[in-house]
Amino acid sequence: MAQEGAKPVKYEAVIGLEVHAQMLTDSKIFCGCSRKFGSEPNTQTCPVCIGMPGVLPVLNKKALEFAIKTGIAVNCKISPYSRFARKNYFYPDLPKGYQISQYELPICEYGYIEIVVDGAIKKNGITRIHMEEDAGKNIHEGAGNYSFVDLNRAGVPLMEIVSEPDIRSPREAVEYMKKLRTILRYLDVCDGNMEQGSLRCDANVSVRPVGQKAFGVKVEIKNINSFKFVEKALDYEIRRQIKVLEDGGKIIQETRLWDPTRGITESMRGKEEAHDYRYFPEPDLVPLTVEQKWIDEIKASLPELPDIKRQRFISEYGLPEHDADLLVSEKALADWFEEAVKLGGEPKLVCNWIKGEIMRLLNTDGKTMDECPLKPYHLVYVLNLIRDAKINANAAKIVLEDMYKNPADIHGYAILELPVLQMKAEAHVDLIIKEKGLVQVSDEVAIEKIVDEIISKNPKEIERFKSGEEKLIGFFVGQVMKLTKGKANPQIVNELLKKKLSTQ
Ligand SMILES: [Zn+2]
Repeated sequence: MAQEGAKPVKYEAVIGLEVHAQMLTDSKIFCGCSRKFGSEPNTQTCPVCIGMPGVLPVLNKKALEFAIKTGIAVNCKISPYSRFARKNYFYPDLPKGYQISQYELPICEYGYIEIVVDGAIKKNGITRIHMEEDAGKNIHEGAGNYSFVDLNRAGVPLMEIVSEPDIRSPREAVEYMKKLRTILRYLDVCDGNMEQGSLRCDANVSVRPVGQKAFGVKVEIKNINSFKFVEKALDYEIRRQIKVLEDGGKIIQETRLWDPTRGITESMRGKEEAHDYRYFPEPDLVPLTVEQKWIDEIKASLPELPDIKRQRFISEYGLPEHDADLLVSEKALADWFEEAVKLGGEPKLVCNWIKGEIMRLLNTDGKTMDECPLKPYHLVYVLNLIRDAKINANAAKIVLEDMYKNPADIHGYAILELPVLQMKAEAHVDLIIKEKGLVQVSDEVAIEKIVDEIISKNPKEIERFKSGEEKLIGFFVGQVMKLTKGKANPQIVNELLKKKLSTQ
């Protein structure tokens, strides 16, 4: 603690993230092996990626294109001249004894991405993006005192995206990570699957008294593989460092490992300096020169990116900011929404149904929008039925859930044109409504009978209602709905109830 009587020192965190993103190329970065995840160990290897002597790497052009694409999307300058370097270290998952990476001349530099912090837009600098090969994987499980090495991952193309130390809180770090993941997924250059390790993050974190310009001693945290852990690991580490300083201690520059089960970071090793790796230019690969013409072509091929889409959703569809944020967070979500609007859905209404019922259905079995069996035309058709008072919202939910759970007869038609698909889907919806008896009852005489019945059966509630408990209207509506199995037109029910109750 600070001296007695003196004001306690307030600390702030300084955070920079190094994000490793596996690129969605077909093959590895320097050989023709598949880079697909999840195959039998050591079935996707060749002399190049297991580091046999005498072989030569050849750069995968797609990997270079993906790195440039990403650089443009995060506002980087694309280097016309860059080169690969050898990063020397020994580890069992690195049979060559060095990793081919980029060092002093990376492919992209000086970029930024924007995140929303407390409602305001904040720019977070990106120092550089460089390409490198992934290492293999050591597996320390199974029977006996053995460790195994799987080299399927060796040579998988990676981008390392290094941020400036602009991040000031664990929450901001998560926002930055999420935004980066969204951009990578829009570009289709990385699937962003943190569980499978295709997006991984190391964090550099230090603390300093608020107002001090100089950085504190930084600690690197490795092994962070989910958004939740980014926040938790940083939160823990910031508290740990402040405690050390307050107790009069010193922070040691080191690499620490996040242990998610115990919720702590622990010392792994002293932090290496760049010179420990004895970087030198990779002699087996020529330096890279990238022509401006190609950069321009790649730029022209970029999809609409989330920031621009967000602005457009707000201005074109009049959506509130938080709705636009949610919809653009995944490209599939934004596309689904827009498709529904194009088919005539009212934008805010479509958005509300996506946020409500459709997200609920997806969440129940952990699916994302690109795996959603419901198509935009299903929702639009169902919304039209509500508009035309054929079914009510309750019935619509039942129909959507049924379509979601029994999509068989939708998928069989995958090769058909949209109008045909739409027609088939509409017939399917009509059938569900008929089979489940969900047609809305809009017959006033029929509903009035039920309303009268409810009123005569509940004299106590009527008394309470008359003495001012107006919220009991909900109770009466509920009773009518119960008797009509949820099929009564709610507007008519409300109107009739109000009329009858006011004359009681
Ligand atoms: Zn290979």
